[in-house]
Amino acid sequence: MTNNKSNDYDVVVIGAGLGGLFAGAKLAKEGKRVLVVEQHSIPGGYATQFKRKGFVFEAGLHAWDGLFSDTNPNLAILDDLNIRDNLSFVRLPEFYHVQRGDLGFTLADDIALAEKELCQRFPREPKAIKRYMELLVRLRKEILNFPITPGKTLAMLPLAPILYPTILKNIFSTLHNFLDRLTNNEDLKLILSANTAYYHTDPKKYALLHYGGAQSIYLSGGCAYIKGGSYKLAQYVSSFIESHGGTVLFNTSATKIPFRNSAISGVTMQSTRDSSQINEVSCEVVVANANMPTVINSLLPKEKSAKLQKRFGTYQLSHSAFCIYLGLKKPLHTIGNNRYCAFILPKELTRFSDLGHHNTTKDYTKKIISLVDYSLIEANLNEDNAPTASVMVVDEIDQWEGLSPSEYKEKKERVADSLMKEMENYLPGISQLVAHREIATPKTFERYTLNPGGCIYGYAQSVNQIGPKRPNIYSSIPGLYFASAWTKPGGGLSPVSKSGYTAACQILKKYS
Ligand SMILES: Cc1cc2nc3c(=O)[nH]c(=O)nc-3n(C[C@H](O)[C@H](O)[C@H](O)COP(=O)(O)OP(=O)(O)OC[C@H]3O[C@@H](n4cnc5c(N)ncnc54)[C@H](O)[C@@H]3O)c2cc1C
Repeated sequence: MTNNKSNDYDVVVIGAGLGGLFAGAKLAKEGKRVLVVEQHSIPGGYATQFKRKGFVFEAGLHAWDGLFSDTNPNLAILDDLNIRDNLSFVRLPEFYHVQRGDLGFTLADDIALAEKELCQRFPREPKAIKRYMELLVRLRKEILNFPITPGKTLAMLPLAPILYPTILKNIFSTLHNFLDRLTNNEDLKLILSANTAYYHTDPKKYALLHYGGAQSIYLSGGCAYIKGGSYKLAQYVSSFIESHGGTVLFNTSATKIPFRNSAISGVTMQSTRDSSQINEVSCEVVVANANMPTVINSLLPKEKSAKLQKRFGTYQLSHSAFCIYLGLKKPLHTIGNNRYCAFILPKELTRFSDLGHHNTTKDYTKKIISLVDYSLIEANLNEDNAPTASVMVVDEIDQWEGLSPSEYKEKKERVADSLMKEMENYLPGISQLVAHREIATPKTFERYTLNPGGCIYGYAQSVNQIGPKRPNIYSSIPGLYFASAWTKPGGGLSPVSKSGYTAACQILKKYS
């Protein structure tokens, strides 16, 4: 690659979501000629913010996982890109709070404290709680060290039963199987799974390996917010690429990945401002951060994508969200809120086996609602600290198809009103504090990131689409890599950052 000076770039990265940015940053740091093309006018994908009526709203990030554990190998990635030296993080007051009527419990973001407090709350369940925590500890250790690079994965296979016994034992388990075997206590199961809406809609399909990995990293490494918001991280990594000689091109959509003599020859691009303008840059290696269905169905030539299409064409997409972003007259603590992140369960949700139904029901008032109170922490989103919060439920784009613009607008407002009414039961007076609100539906998420259906985590993190079944970072097409929520290890800010960084390391190894 480095010898081929006739190419415009060594690597073209399609998409400036965090997966693409981390790949571009590591490659640029190691001296590769990198171009990142992004269809939007700013970097970050879902790691973004927007400004309305004097408020700056965080679009997505609630909690970054594992920053406060020295044994977290992902910290080396942040340090290689000088992220911890250049950005500040605030530790969140808890992992999450769960409320259903009078049932309330706050889960600490510390595994020992969480175990102690759960045992106090459920004095007949110490054995189940201990087994739960032990599984998380073992899974965390194995998952964080599990290789996701081709050579290492093959080399470790004979030793897998010794090195990764917990992963192997639970490879086909769902969260539902696990918690149902653990205990009959429905409230305990609901508390331990209330935040699954962050990862999946239905515990009956949701992979235990993913849940255990994510939950254990938050519980043992703490929960953090990036001061200034997730966009601050995206901006920093984007500037890092440019300060190391790379180029980040906005308002530019990749339209094709052409081939010459069976090898990738470049990327064709179109301005999203002036769609008539088409350019081609040459390169031998492409990192696709853009969603996999688009790469497979539109960017690659049919004969090249056939294998990928066969393998992943029937994969289910993850869910999307309906979000209300609240610009507040005063911080929520003025009306008694003292939780950063709360999951509010509908009163009908008393059995764990009904949790999936309550995430997917068309009746928005029966869904699990999450409230994130950025006004409670030093979020530093606004220079003048204008307080904000967000209210979110799981959603699907089907609910928003086939509506006229006025029907769409009317439904958006109606759903938001009904959710705010539910919020009043949790935090009386919240509606009175709202100075301005913005609403995002799955269509909004799709429009800004091009993720089909506005899905948040790429392919759903179901038991049959995770672990060995998740798309690899390297592909069957020489020179094509994937770095995003769609690939291993999965969705979320730190997993996608890892996928991007790992893609870059694989490229550096292969093409140095
Ligand atoms: C409401 C919400 C809350 C969330 N909360 C959390 C949280 O608390 N903690 C956490 O860890 N994660 C959270 N996430 C998930 C996390 O934000 C995502 O998993 C992650 O940011 C996805 O990153 P990505 O690299 O896969 O790319 P994406 O963010 O999907 O970005 C892909 C990029 O590719 C660009 N693109 C697409 N097609 C093209 C093309 N043809 N040419 C050029 N560019 C293209 C898009 O414009 C986009 O910028 C949340 C997400 C949402 C929506």
